[in-house]
Amino acid sequence: MSTPQISGIDMVELERALTAGHDHAGNPIEPFVDDAGGWPLRCCLSDSAPGAEIAIIAWSPFPWKGPYAETGPVVVHSAGCPSPAPDELPASFDARPMVLRPYGRNQRIAYHLVRHVDAGSSLTAELASLLDDDDVVFVHGRNVTGGCYAFTAERDSD
Ligand SMILES: [Zn+2]
Repeated sequence: MSTPQISGIDMVELERALTAGHDHAGNPIEPFVDDAGGWPLRCCLSDSAPGAEIAIIAWSPFPWKGPYAETGPVVVHSAGCPSPAPDELPASFDARPMVLRPYGRNQRIAYHLVRHVDAGSSLTAELASLLDDDDVVFVHGRNVTGGCYAFTAERDSD
């Protein structure tokens, strides 16, 4: 069982969208200054700091197109990230309950493997066990209540 590789949304694609000024649903991207901080960011997988320039955008965090490649809201830095996303799961993620949604080689949700993980449980171990299934290509961490995208976990390529 190897350590899952964790990533947020594709940064090259984000840069393209920010330059174009439209998100994946065609909405204009409207950055704002975050006064309070604490937004969960899907670019560098950190929480926003007060004063950061961020945007809420519609995003499809999939490497393919198809009926299962849904578009939903994510929050991102809109003027660059202070640091890149870590390869491993940020500790803050373990403090939140999460739905783990695996996607199979058929580019569909592997419904029989979907798991709910409580806060404080071992998210990394749960992800590793899902990725042990050869039919699973990647796993999305999703917000429990809203279903919003949080991160992608894949097998370590080593
Ligand atoms: Zn960021």
